[in-house]
Amino acid sequence: MVLLNSRKVIGLAHYCKQLKTLRGKPLVPARSCSLATCTHANRNAALHPLWQSELSIPGGTRQSPINIQWRDSVYDPHLKPLKIHYDPATCLYIWNNGYSFQVEFDDSTDKSVIMGGPMENHYRLKQFHFHWGAINEWGSEHTVDSKVYPGELHLVHWNPVNSTSFEEAIMENNGLVVIGVFLKLGAHHAGLQKLVDALPAVRHKDTIVEFDVFDPSCLLPSCPDYWTYDGSLTTPPLTESVTWIIKKAPIEVDETQLEEFRMLLFTSDGEEEKRMVDNFRPLQPLMNRTVRSSFQNHHLLNIETRPREHAHQHSP
Ligand SMILES: [Zn+2]
Repeated sequence: MVLLNSRKVIGLAHYCKQLKTLRGKPLVPARSCSLATCTHANRNAALHPLWQSELSIPGGTRQSPINIQWRDSVYDPHLKPLKIHYDPATCLYIWNNGYSFQVEFDDSTDKSVIMGGPMENHYRLKQFHFHWGAINEWGSEHTVDSKVYPGELHLVHWNPVNSTSFEEAIMENNGLVVIGVFLKLGAHHAGLQKLVDALPAVRHKDTIVEFDVFDPSCLLPSCPDYWTYDGSLTTPPLTESVTWIIKKAPIEVDETQLEEFRMLLFTSDGEEEKRMVDNFRPLQPLMNRTVRSSFQNHHLLNIETRPREHAHQHSP
């Protein structure tokens, strides 16, 4: 059943991609792909080879990414504001790892750290990277009420109290904290542009260039609200060592900036070129987990305060 369905949606996804390959002249598809269901079907048809084999899916109970159901998330008044201090001088280089482009930091000291939020101690910044789609209709790993964003930023931190290295922290419970930020299409992002300008130098897989003095806090939205839940890495080894902090507000980037992401290649120099797009893992089941929010759930409050039943009882 899945195979039959996927053949149909592969056709649609291919159609969307064909439209998009005519760069510079945005074409409007004759058939709208904006419905959530259609988007999900197409998005899942665009799976990276990493996720096409069932063998790559472990039998864990707290895998990521997930769809965050706003109404099901629970406000936790004990969640503290997130405190972020990044030292721009700890930024080292940017490299194309064949799945995304990654900006690496010197994590030998506590110079670039986050604390507060759901954390009991500080966590060191190791790297950040992005996930994005071939087209604007999908690209993010997490979704909110099934809404998919065109991209998602992940800032990866490790716990220097429980572990002596990032590699060790990957295997530890509470070893990692990843901040997720959705990318929304909109205004040009000046902070992101410095990164975008460096991308042509790492177009091919396994290329690396120096990229120093960059403060990634410029890539965070000003709104302090976030959701948090216990999950996993979304790339192998998929270990369940991650406390996720998903920012509620997206940041805006413009179309040309996303297009520069899509100019990167999964492939090495000399290989047949394959564009680096759709580098996200499919959604995983929530199972027995609760998503907590740092902010009051106004969706729910609006429903609860609506005096529908009360009014009905007293009507003539
Ligand atoms: Zn990621």
